[in-house]
Amino acid sequence: MRIDLIEFLPLTLQRKEAFTIARGSSKISEVVFLALHSGKRTGHGCAAPTDVTRENVHSVLNTFQTFSRTLPGVEFEKPHQLQERLDKIAQNQPSARAGVEMALFDLAAQAAGLPLYAYLGGRRDRMPTDMTIGIMEARDAVDRARRWVDVGFRALKIKVGRDWKGDAKRVKAIRDAVGPQVELRVDGNQGFSWNDALAFAKHVRGENVTLFEQPVRVDDWEGMRALTEASPIPIMADEMVLTPDDVKKLRWSNAARAVNLKLMKHGGLLKTMEVNTLCESAGYPTMVGCMGEPQLSIAAGLHFALTQKNVRWLDLDSHFKFASDPTSGLRFEQGQLIAPTKPGLGVDVQLPT
Ligand SMILES: [Mg+2]
Repeated sequence: MRIDLIEFLPLTLQRKEAFTIARGSSKISEVVFLALHSGKRTGHGCAAPTDVTRENVHSVLNTFQTFSRTLPGVEFEKPHQLQERLDKIAQNQPSARAGVEMALFDLAAQAAGLPLYAYLGGRRDRMPTDMTIGIMEARDAVDRARRWVDVGFRALKIKVGRDWKGDAKRVKAIRDAVGPQVELRVDGNQGFSWNDALAFAKHVRGENVTLFEQPVRVDDWEGMRALTEASPIPIMADEMVLTPDDVKKLRWSNAARAVNLKLMKHGGLLKTMEVNTLCESAGYPTMVGCMGEPQLSIAAGLHFALTQKNVRWLDLDSHFKFASDPTSGLRFEQGQLIAPTKPGLGVDVQLPT
């Protein structure tokens, strides 16, 4: 396969309502779509830069600019062959790297005539995902929780980390409203001191919360270690794990019991596979999560998750919350995301022209 032409387009996706987490609130998500043309085929990708990956739309556009100058004319059969080139150009730009690599995988799986998960050797075609409820009044959170459970979600992730007593009340109110069958997870997004995180975890001990994500700041290794030892809810690392070395450090420090993986954080499918392999050897089950992403890159995350037996949970929900999404084709039934059956990522892309 020869790469003929690369096109890209930054786009602001509007959410139906503001999404609030411990670190801030936002009604939009800024992403950059990318198309790799090869003969009659087009591979699609998307980068969703955030402060977590220390990127922004400008840095992604610069990186894509470099790719559009250097990749045309390059031949490849498997995306593995271009890894070093991607590493060099997208250094410290993991979401930009993920966007390009995703498009390469889309092309390669299309050429093989297989959905991406099957191209990568995966056997299952669907997995349950949770739905995230941002920080809001308990009454409103209960209303959202009921609505999401009504449409089929069997797991909810509740954002916490601003005020532990209010957070605990909200978690209890949601548990009372949805009953014991729905799985509840919480995410502190670095908002707690470790004292407050522990007080919160002990307070909601009876609510059967499965995971407590990134309660304290990414540089607070001692806090993460103390919580991993003392919290009645298992601690999951998210923002503090970007690279394989971060997983090694996590293990040496005993600073978590599980890890949230994101294609945008690690730099695409192959890098995320590396991180997941280290997690597996360290005894950490993983989740595949997302930034504010459209169906296109959510599909890439799903295809990835379907191929990895160490991935136990999915948190691929951002696409449900956009007022409009130029990409479509992912199915959701009975709480599960279902991979498209078409070759490649299998998602339809209709970008504004
Ligand atoms: Mg998180």
